[in-house]
Amino acid sequence: MNIILLGPPGAGKGTQAERLVENHGLVQLSTGDMLRQAKASGTEMGKRVAEVMERGELVTDEIVVGLIEEKLTTSDAKGFIFDGFPRTLAQADALGALLEKTGQRLDAVIELKVDDKILVDRIVGRAEQARAAGQPVRADDNAETLNQRLEAYHAQTAPLIDYYAQKGALNSVDAMGDIDTIAGELSAIVKTATA
Ligand code: AMP
Repeated sequence: MNIILLGPPGAGKGTQAERLVENHGLVQLSTGDMLRQAKASGTEMGKRVAEVMERGELVTDEIVVGLIEEKLTTSDAKGFIFDGFPRTLAQADALGALLEKTGQRLDAVIELKVDDKILVDRIVGRAEQARAAGQPVRADDNAETLNQRLEAYHAQTAPLIDYYAQKGALNSVDAMGDIDTIAGELSAIVKTATA
């Protein structure tokens, strides 16, 4: 079972992916987490991507597709929740080809819809909460970088909404409400898609 969570930064993709892991036994694949790990472990690739991420821009398709390919071809998981991938049309085409190559299919694409204004408040709030709790704050969770991340989303990622709608795979969910209610809606979509 393979599910894509699509949505702008701060839409709740990570939170909802965790719920789907708990409720459906899927494995979460977050390219953002993989890139932050690469940065933290100081690999050559990590050093190269750190600045790009801190500017709020997208890392190259080649790098992220490489990370996903490695997971898909080495994992024996029954399926994945793609969180933050694909983010460009080229990544979407690459994912389609990889799934075909590994004999898998895409079951559903779920778009989490949230107004930009709410996203800025959420992300700035997420950073303030982490800071107050003495936890590390993501280098790209600030109002300035967020504007660039939103721009990248609208310019490079939003076209995927039509791309997957044309394939008949798109499900859009209002993601501005309560986390549990949204999680329930996502679970229902996953059950229908895999019934
Ligand atoms: P995220 O944790 O999903 O918000 O991603 C944090 C940052 O990592 C993004 O702003 C990008 O710089 C980079 N990133 C994550 N996933 C991708 C992707 N699929 N394509 C390009 N860049 C990505």
